[in-house]
Amino acid sequence: MANTTSEQLLSATAAWTASVRARESERADGLFCDPWAALLAGETGLAWIAPRSTESVTPIIIRTRYFDDFLQRVTREEGITQVILLAAGLDTRAFRLSWPAGATFFELDQTAVLAYKSNVLNAAQAQPTCTRQAIGADLTQPWTEALLAGGFDPQIPAVWLLEGFLFYLPKETVTQLLDAVTSLAAPGSWLGFDIINSVMLTSPLTRNWIEMQAQSGAPWIGTLDDPVGFLAQRGWAASLTQAGAEDANYGRWPFPVIPTTLPNMPHNWFVTARFNPAGV
Ligand code: SAM
Repeated sequence: MANTTSEQLLSATAAWTASVRARESERADGLFCDPWAALLAGETGLAWIAPRSTESVTPIIIRTRYFDDFLQRVTREEGITQVILLAAGLDTRAFRLSWPAGATFFELDQTAVLAYKSNVLNAAQAQPTCTRQAIGADLTQPWTEALLAGGFDPQIPAVWLLEGFLFYLPKETVTQLLDAVTSLAAPGSWLGFDIINSVMLTSPLTRNWIEMQAQSGAPWIGTLDDPVGFLAQRGWAASLTQAGAEDANYGRWPFPVIPTTLPNMPHNWFVTARFNPAGV
């Protein structure tokens, strides 16, 4: 990270998403329940969510549930035992969901974020439901050696998740990160991430959110306009959806549904992909 200020701002973003999970967890009909989210969100997160409508954070609520289901499906149905969260933040999936025997979570994020999370979860006596490795790393710098040293086995398939992260990074760094993931992926691995298109940065429909992010010091900058093509060049067979679509709706999308690939519209895609470098 360039300096302490940007580290702190990016750490704050982890508290923001935890605060969304905290509010959702209060609902009897919530899409998930994260019993530790309010504690983890702390004052920073709870102050951020207080003035916001639930509608305005619904994309994050739906994203959380969508990637919950994705991770559970590929670990249960495909026998994948390694889960790597790049920019794990204050995510508690290793605690709040059940995982197949032998599953290991590798959680990478800034060292200070992971230390804070460990302190809070230890104090709350939270117990992971899988093996868990927290690895402090600056993901804009080389990090693959740290993951390997933490016990990750690149010879067997894994599932990778980069959630709520790539839009904070310059495009070159997005490319470097996804290339690094590809370099460690065994055939049959899975990848999930959310990414915005470039129209999202300029559309009147998304102006309020984009301005809020910029004013808060954590601007959204990273885009991909053709994630499926980008991933295909690297051996990944990808598909896209977005909040509101039939498979990412959960009866909770409060806005008109925009077709997932409608041109010249803002998109905040959920991407899932299987690594199939031989193309078979
Ligand atoms: N994936 C989590 C979630 O959905 O709740 C966290 C998302 S939060 C919006 C973004 C995360 O990216 C923060 O936890 C922040 O610390 C992490 N992050 C940003 N830049 C980073 C970097 N250069 N290296 C490691 N982590 C970084």
